[in-house]
Amino acid sequence: MENRKELRHWLDNLQLSHPLVIAGPCSAETEDQVMKIAHQLKDTDVSYYRAGIWKPRTRPGMFEGVGSLGLKWLQRVKAETGLKTATEVANRNHVELALEHDIDMLWIGARSTVSPFIVQDIADALRGTDKIVLVKNPVNPDLPLWLGAIERLASANIEKLGVIHRGFSTYEKTKYRNNPEWQIAIELQTKFPDLPLINDPSHITGKRDMIFDVSQTALDLNFDGLMIETHSDPDNAWSDAAQQVTPETLVQIMKDLRIRKEFDAEAEFLTSLNNLRAQIDVIDNQLIDLLGKRMKVADGIGKLKKEKNVAVLQSKRWNEILGKMVLEGEEKGLSEEFTLKLFKAIHQESINHQEKIING
Ligand code: PEP
Ligand code: MN
Repeated sequence: MENRKELRHWLDNLQLSHPLVIAGPCSAETEDQVMKIAHQLKDTDVSYYRAGIWKPRTRPGMFEGVGSLGLKWLQRVKAETGLKTATEVANRNHVELALEHDIDMLWIGARSTVSPFIVQDIADALRGTDKIVLVKNPVNPDLPLWLGAIERLASANIEKLGVIHRGFSTYEKTKYRNNPEWQIAIELQTKFPDLPLINDPSHITGKRDMIFDVSQTALDLNFDGLMIETHSDPDNAWSDAAQQVTPETLVQIMKDLRIRKEFDAEAEFLTSLNNLRAQIDVIDNQLIDLLGKRMKVADGIGKLKKEKNVAVLQSKRWNEILGKMVLEGEEKGLSEEFTLKLFKAIHQESINHQEKIING
């Protein structure tokens, strides 16, 4: 993983005045559908045309892609529109077929990144390629697993590497299809600042009306590009219908996004400021989320106390918590005064919750 600088070349060499945009349907469905969308995306900010032709589906029996036939359609896209092409590969056979058909960008899907065996197999098949290879984060929020995949590809002398943050799977349903763990992407970016970092707001949100906001957050966090699923008839798409946007919407999204300016001192300052603010927003949301969870647990305790007829306030336990938190807080640079104030406020809210339960 030394020599990160070299890895950035392929993106800088594109000399784009805006973030890299990869767009196209979740799945190639028919030749007409692939060609129609490609022609609609020609002459926009899109540089790479994506279409999945081998689709990893959660349950068998869903549409699993058209297979290698779709590679011919992608070749036609390149010939007719000049767009470069991108598709997902999940095994050695996919890699060999994609290379034979001169696909320009290959990505490893979230379900493949979790398996070091699969990643190694793909890396061996790709050894020394000059194609761009992007690694989606694994479905589970595990940075070392993501890094391991990147390292396997780098060790196979693949130079044009990049990563895609497509969010992480959670058991608990949230407003996202796949939770964006921004701090994982930020940590990866801090470790490897020259590894292009792409955001996939389509798979993060699962809903087309949330794509703009997630894209903006990604750009504020210094992401280098976006992969956005785009379909001429999203509602009737054969996969991921709810999250696909029309080419017109994509163009509008790109127009509305606040995009980093060329380098100058003022812009540099604003970029740093927006980046830090975006990090603060992420953490604030986590704080609220955690406090909400804490209150739910407190409600559970309230119910137990009601059943057993126990008093709400247990001062011995409370003093123990406070003492522990003051010490932990000091280790993190928080003053005793702040920690006490914070926890008293949290505790008061818990008591209010529990009293409501016990009295009502
Ligand atoms: C996709 O890009 O269509 C896809 C299947 O993505 P992921 O691997 O992120 O689920
Ligand atoms: Mn998809």
